[in-house]
This record gives sequence, structure tokens and C-alpha cells, in this order.
Amino acid sequence: MTPDLTADSIEPPAGREADAWILRRRGPKNPTDPESAYALLREWEPSPTGSGLADVWTVFLTNRECPWRCLMCDLWKNTLDQALAPGAIPRQLKRALRTLGDAPPQPAASLPISERHLKLYNSGSFFDRQAIPSEDHVEIARQASGFHRVIVECHPSLVGDLVLRFRDQLLNESRGSIAPCLELALGLETAHEPSLTRLNKRMTVANFVHASRFLTNHGVAVRVFLLAHPPFMSATEQPVWIRRSIEVAFDAGATVVSLIPTRVGNGALDRLRDAGLFREPPLEALEEAFEYGLSLRRGRVLADLWDLKRFSRCEACFGERRNRLEQMNWTQKARPPAACAAGCGSNA
Ligand code: SF4
Ligand SMILES: [Zn+2]
Repeated sequence: MTPDLTADSIEPPAGREADAWILRRRGPKNPTDPESAYALLREWEPSPTGSGLADVWTVFLTNRECPWRCLMCDLWKNTLDQALAPGAIPRQLKRALRTLGDAPPQPAASLPISERHLKLYNSGSFFDRQAIPSEDHVEIARQASGFHRVIVECHPSLVGDLVLRFRDQLLNESRGSIAPCLELALGLETAHEPSLTRLNKRMTVANFVHASRFLTNHGVAVRVFLLAHPPFMSATEQPVWIRRSIEVAFDAGATVVSLIPTRVGNGALDRLRDAGLFREPPLEALEEAFEYGLSLRRGRVLADLWDLKRFSRCEACFGERRNRLEQMNWTQKARPPAACAAGCGSNA
């Protein structure tokens, strides 16, 4: 039998064979329960109106694994191999909302709270019928009544009429209560086309722009995920392309850009790192991109602070730098760089 050399190559091969290379690098999934969301979170985000904060309830729904095989993705870890029957997702949501209602987040400074948002993140696309049965949309909309905004994620190729139907279901099921506005989170990842191709997202920048314009033309808000330090780009290209990517997102109608540091841990990126072909971003790269995004004043810009410490090279100033980014997330205003008592020069 001829060995599959492409599956063992240092870098992922181009085209369809990339899937096999990526899948081969994976470890086991985490145990998940089809009747329970796998994680819950309550946090603050700046409100879209600019008047204080939104209290954001995030439900990480358990469902079937996303059919795409993006090179940087680790969301498959908390997914099922089979599709859920209709009814399971509404049951997960009902339990999650009850739990989140009992878990208010820590107060955030003195900023007023003006809105309540619901994020339904499903480790894939909300409008993938194999992940969230479309029969469940009405019941989900019913449970979302009373939130000002419902945010779901979706691959740009699944943006279409089902989205508009859910937008209307959110309005119809509000029954005199607040009617949530729908926001879709699209992963552009990077506007650097050669890198985007090699990320195996099976999408071009033009596909993203098309999906985003469709949504904004139909009254659906757009949030964009961008990667800080994606692979397949030189160190000198990184700052240029994260800036360019933020501009492309806003040009396409996004009202929120979320900057996510690229992390190892999914097998594929670990392999590239071990071969010297990928490096996680230093904290400064995230800080610089965030400052640039805010300076544009074209929409909200958020920095993902989860597991942030791994990107820091200095114990002495990390706490202050994290606080600074958190404040910038909440206020949408740049703050002076934190001084380092150890003089690490990270902000030089
Ligand atoms: S489309 Fe999203 S969830 Fe699916 S593999 Fe790609 S990054 Fe992961
Ligand atoms: Zn320092």
C-alpha cells in the first residue's frame, strides 16, 4: 500500500487533501451532553448605541460538528458526531437561560447597563440545518424574546433566506416584549487572500463581502471575527494585514470587529509551530491592532481576552495590560499604555 505522503507533510496540502491533513492532527473530543450547553458565560460588551454596556449572556450550544475543517479551529472539541433531533437545542437553551439568570457578572466600573444580549454560539453555523434543526428556530426565537439583540455565528456560504426567516421569527415571537435585532458573526479571519485560502475556510474575501452586504441590506447586523497572527504570513506582513482586514470588515458593513489571537492546541497549528511555521501573537500585536481599530471610529472593536496570559512575556505588567484592554473593550476608547515596573520594554 502506498503511504499517504500528503497527510504526513509538514504543511497542509492544497485543496481537498487539506481536510485529511487537518483531521490527522486532531486529538480526542471532550465528553459532551446532548441535553446541555457545554459552557455558559455572562459578560459585558459596549452597547451598539454607545450608551453604556450590554449584559451579554453567551450559551455555547452542544450540537453536531461543523462540516468545514478550518486549519485554526478548535471548536470541534466540544461537538457531537451526529445531528440532534428537533427539540434538544430549545431544551439546552431553556436550562442555560435559567442558570445564567442566576449568575450576574461582576459589576463593570460605573458604566450604565442599557441592554441585554443573547449569544448563541454553536461551534459552527447556526444556519447549518444539521447543527440546529430549522424546526427549532421558532422556539429559540420565543425564548430570546426580551433580549435586545441575538447574536449567532455562521459561515458566509450559509447566509441566505433562512437567516431572514429567523430575523422575522425573532420579531414575531417577541409578543409585545422587546423584539431582538439579529446579528450574525462571520469569520473573515484575514483579508490576506493567500492565507485565507490556506486556512481551508473554502471562502474568498469576495464571498465574505457578498454575505455581509446581503445581511446589512436586509437589516441584519454583522460582527466579524479576525485572527491576530494567522499562519502563512510573514512577521512584517502581520501588522499590515490585520489593519487591512479591519478596514475590509468595516467596508463590508460590519458594526463589530472581534480580534482573536490565533492559538495552538488543535493539533494542526501545533504541528506548524513545531516546524517553525507558526508563532502565536505577542500581546503587543493584539494591542496594536486593537488601538488601530478603535482609531478608525467606524464601529465597535473588541479584543478577545480569553487565556490572554499565554501571549505575555512579562509577569510584571501583564495584569495592568489586561485591565487596560478590558477597559478599552468596555469604553471603546484607547487608554495610555501601561508602564512596566520591570522595564520589559513591551510598550516601547
Ligand atoms: S467554519 Fe467556523 S466552526 Fe467551522 S471549522 Fe471553520 S472556524 Fe471552525
Ligand atoms: Zn513588563
